[in-house]
Amino acid sequence: MRLFTLITLFCLALPAHAQGFITRLLDQPVPGGVAVVDLGAAAKAPSATYQGKPLLVIREDGQRWIAIVGLPLSTKPGTERIELDSGERLSFQVRAKHYVEQRITIKNQQQVNPNAANLKRIERELAEQTRAYQQFSPRQPSNLLFDKPVNGPLSSPFGLRRFFNGEERNPHSGLDFAANQGTTIKAPAAGKVILIGDYFFNGKTVFVDHGQGLISMFCHLSAIDVRVGDELPRGGVLGKVGATGRATGPHLHWNVSLNDARVDPAIFIGAFKP
Ligand code: ZN
Repeated sequence: MRLFTLITLFCLALPAHAQGFITRLLDQPVPGGVAVVDLGAAAKAPSATYQGKPLLVIREDGQRWIAIVGLPLSTKPGTERIELDSGERLSFQVRAKHYVEQRITIKNQQQVNPNAANLKRIERELAEQTRAYQQFSPRQPSNLLFDKPVNGPLSSPFGLRRFFNGEERNPHSGLDFAANQGTTIKAPAAGKVILIGDYFFNGKTVFVDHGQGLISMFCHLSAIDVRVGDELPRGGVLGKVGATGRATGPHLHWNVSLNDARVDPAIFIGAFKP
């Protein structure tokens, strides 16, 4: 009995490094995934960067600081490092992940091989969207376990290698939900509307900044119900499902970006498949 008590006490003393809920949910260190790096138990939040970009740092379970690092789809498996404001570097391992191929037929040939005028427009729109993804506001995200933005089954997963009319194009940078035209889209966490647009590929689009570089993009909307600068509560309606831009039918395309890396939104709704 006494030995049992000792073992129990020993086990209770260990959890200084035990993984908390956020780490268990989000630590999926694959290309297009998320790495959670333990930063220790300092009194003040350390600041950290990855590839020169500021990182989301939160305190887990009221004890240790963790950095939540977005890994671009182009990341190679192996050792990666983040840098702390103290100059200290912390390493973590990236595992390999296989992404499948998808072949899509698009009737509008301009959406596969755009002409010069459309290419100029696409370039301008890409720059505008990249600037939005690079914003970093100090607010802490209201929740890291996101709500699904629409009620509907997942259709096309993140990371698919896509061939439009037989030609390989950018991999799928978000997660698709099948939903009827007009279905309301709700903010998966609180946030500020930082950009809206009507884009060549993405159609009617809303960007929501959840804080510290964690940013959502919602695409192909039939209607946008918010304006730039609006503050959305968790669950606040931002628009309606549609098929604007390059879409084969009504659905919601949702991107999640962390430190300017587009990552698999499935991780944040607890639906990640390794
Ligand atoms: Zn999509």
